[in-house]
Amino acid sequence: MSGSATATAAPRNHAASPPLREERSDRIIFSRPYRAAAELANVTTVLGSDHCHGDGPFTAAATAKLAEITGAPHVLLTTSCTHALELGALLLELGPGDEVIVPSFAFTSAATAFAVHGATCVFVDIDETTGNIDPAAAAAAITEHTKAIVVMHYGGVAADMAALGDLARGHGLALIEDNAHGLGGTWRGKALGTLGTLGTQSFHDTKNVHCGEGGALLLADDILMGRAEIIREKGTDRARFLRGQVDKYSWQDIGSSYLPSELNAAVLDAQLAEFQSIQRARHRVWHTYAAELASWAASQGVAPMTVPPDRRHTAHLFYLRLPSEDTRDAFIRHLAARAIVAPFHYVPLDSSAAGLKYGRAPVPCTRSARFAATIVRLPLWPMLTRGQLDRVLTAVTEFRC
Ligand SMILES: *Cc1c(COP(=O)(O)O)cnc(C)c1O
Repeated sequence: MSGSATATAAPRNHAASPPLREERSDRIIFSRPYRAAAELANVTTVLGSDHCHGDGPFTAAATAKLAEITGAPHVLLTTSCTHALELGALLLELGPGDEVIVPSFAFTSAATAFAVHGATCVFVDIDETTGNIDPAAAAAAITEHTKAIVVMHYGGVAADMAALGDLARGHGLALIEDNAHGLGGTWRGKALGTLGTLGTQSFHDTKNVHCGEGGALLLADDILMGRAEIIREKGTDRARFLRGQVDKYSWQDIGSSYLPSELNAAVLDAQLAEFQSIQRARHRVWHTYAAELASWAASQGVAPMTVPPDRRHTAHLFYLRLPSEDTRDAFIRHLAARAIVAPFHYVPLDSSAAGLKYGRAPVPCTRSARFAATIVRLPLWPMLTRGQLDRVLTAVTEFRC
């Protein structure tokens, strides 16, 4: 996954660079895409039908399941979370001269989706207890050009949506939730992805539910939805035509092609059918780490991921924060020597090459830099066995900071 880095990963085995060491067959990888029971049968159904392009029966079924999970009034499947954010930028008409406030600690999509349309990214610092955007830092960065605030719920733990909601309403700004980690998560009982102007989901194969590559846009507003379905379908009113609301479809607005094929939707629908059991399995791993690493962490000055009580997280990831960058890097090497892959991310956006070119940070994002320098993520996927978990737990608790 781009944006991730593993300090000690062996180079890939290709002719130009032989492997440094034999890859162990019992290596515990960091993330493994889930396989849902019905996905092969669903794909076969699509291939045997006359409908492989987008917006067929599996798209409808997957969309309905997402609406049920999130309670969002409107859901549109897209080709990726990045594309859902780009669609959002077109919908909100964010472009040259506009400023979008983006957390420094986030995946590139949260910035490039707006930069690609000419908007300026204004990077702000995070709250280190969650890794999420700090509302006070966002407030301090607002200017007369600010049009939107992007929130990324890191690890599916909600940002401080009370403060951010007040801020957005008070200044007439759009609130955009990059909810790639947060499907099924809640803030004070309300679903993540439905708390702002629009929310986006990712179904990349590193996410809890996937279809290889895919995404979704969540909307509440009927007028935005009317325009979003046109932008998504090459600027046409084909969606209305398919519903029998117009007798032909034609070019209505700017747009692009953001709808996934039925092949992707077929896999996604099979995965969403197992959403509850996928989540149970991930939470089992998460709670094992949280419970069984607590005393070691306390003794070593390591801070494990925590979740404020008014939020339900999604067990998308489990992280530890080591006391320093040096101990973090030593910890990753210690795990790698035991054939356990534990990566870190993200390179803070404000200090990355494109961040410097397409954005600015009014104040240095020092907490984001420290967070990125000390974080490490442990392997987490639904089928991790008790034996594999025990190996990770033993390796982690043998480490001394
Ligand atoms: C994975 C991810 C994305 C990008 O999702 P795609 O579907 O690959 O475009 C965006 N934001 C966050 C926080 C992510 O983890």
